[in-house]
Amino acid sequence: MGANNTSTQPKGIGTKGLIFEESLLFELSSHGRKAYSLPSLDVPDVDIKSILPQAEIRDEIKDFPELSELDVVRHYTRLSQWNFSIETNFYPLGSCTMKYNPKINDQMAQLPQFSQHHPATPEPLSQGSLELMHDLQEFLKEISGMDSVCLQPAAGAQGELAGMLMIHAWHQSKGAQRKKVLLPDSAHGTNPASSALCGYQVISIPSNSNGFIDLEVLESVMDEEVAGIMLTNPNTLGKFEKDILQITDIVHKKGGLVYCDGANLNAIMGMTKMGEMGIDVMHFNLHKTFSTPHGGGGPGAGPVGVKKILEPFLPVPVIEKKDTSFHLNYERPQSIGKLKAFYGNFGILLRAYVYILSLGKKGIKQACQMAVLNANYIRSHLEGTYHQPYPGDSLHECIFSDKNLQSTGVKTLDIAKALIDYGIHPPTVYFPLIAKGAIMIEPTETESKETLDLFIKAMKEIAENATKDPESFHNAPTMPKVSRLDETQAARKPVLRWLPANN
Ligand SMILES: *Cc1c(COP(=O)(O)O)cnc(C)c1O
Repeated sequence: MGANNTSTQPKGIGTKGLIFEESLLFELSSHGRKAYSLPSLDVPDVDIKSILPQAEIRDEIKDFPELSELDVVRHYTRLSQWNFSIETNFYPLGSCTMKYNPKINDQMAQLPQFSQHHPATPEPLSQGSLELMHDLQEFLKEISGMDSVCLQPAAGAQGELAGMLMIHAWHQSKGAQRKKVLLPDSAHGTNPASSALCGYQVISIPSNSNGFIDLEVLESVMDEEVAGIMLTNPNTLGKFEKDILQITDIVHKKGGLVYCDGANLNAIMGMTKMGEMGIDVMHFNLHKTFSTPHGGGGPGAGPVGVKKILEPFLPVPVIEKKDTSFHLNYERPQSIGKLKAFYGNFGILLRAYVYILSLGKKGIKQACQMAVLNANYIRSHLEGTYHQPYPGDSLHECIFSDKNLQSTGVKTLDIAKALIDYGIHPPTVYFPLIAKGAIMIEPTETESKETLDLFIKAMKEIAENATKDPESFHNAPTMPKVSRLDETQAARKPVLRWLPANN
């Protein structure tokens, strides 16, 4: 493993591990060193205490680091190189769609005409930005087949909340609120949270052995107390719910509505539309499917799309087109209200707009096809080596488990850690919860066959080493600055601030 057999590791996937030593600025400090040089004074030097009241003067900070400009520049540049990102190496993080984001999108978002446009600028002077948002809504309507789109929510989870609030408001408007929401047991954790926040009791419905919603079970739990179902299509196992039309029909017949989590849109965009599957409300993750850098906790966007019946409840303001001008409509008495400052994360919306415009209809479809092809390429090459909890074709992501390695004692977490020594970001692990020891791989459309081959080779080598030398896995990864962390200690006794050694 690791340092012992670097010669057998695939070449060309970038740096292996993280190699720079880096001390804290406090430790690099040298008394009297400065990062600035000022011209000599041409006015009398006065003691600050003689001109400012004591309360305005900052106390001396003990051991405050003193460094030169070069010390500081090198320190932060080296730290920036510790970042793992999609721009450094392969990042096959299932469910999150960590795909490469063309730089042109960032450049357009940085145009001063957009980036300097204050969100409080009056409507007549904001026509360009309003038109852009309006057009993006139209693009998303076309892609999803929904009747209306609101760009406001800041993330998928907030889109879910908006959607569930609208379902709640719809039932309320009919004068009969309902109590429960149905959720497949493969759902992302944000789904039950969003339902519960709206006051609904969450009823989990077990998936069948193929990973699909069981129609008989659904039929048996769907009644007039159920406000609706929250499902994901393709589901979190990377499979298309083939009975989607029957599912939505069963729910509609008993007066419920259907929410679809659109986080997996990369797998179906340009091929089929949520609006044609009986979905009433859904969200898009612009920071997954529509090319916004994510993973660093930066801003995202989770627009919601709805069918006609839910339009009156959309968050305010709604961007409307009147003749040739655009305006923000707040006069909507049935609206669930405002969700986000101003109109959402405009810079993110701009990136999605440019991305969709540059791909076009054909490009969107091709991106989807490539994403599915890449996932199935990996799946078919690894299926003899790793156990597949839900075998068969997948869409944009594929799932394996550690079951075949059971006798070696090497577990999913060990496989994930070992991949770091190959310079590959670990895939999503132990999700979805219904697949025991899951490792969820989503290569995305942007990776080349060469990268996929290196990944497959690494995964095969890991399986081989697990049989030959299972002990070595306990220390993996060995190449990075920080190797295996004690995750229990980290959670129980987190070190949240730096204390000088002499304290
Ligand atoms: C990422 C994700 C979400 C939540 O979206 P955020 O933008 O992270 O809030 C919901 N469902 C699924 C399946 C996801 O992958």
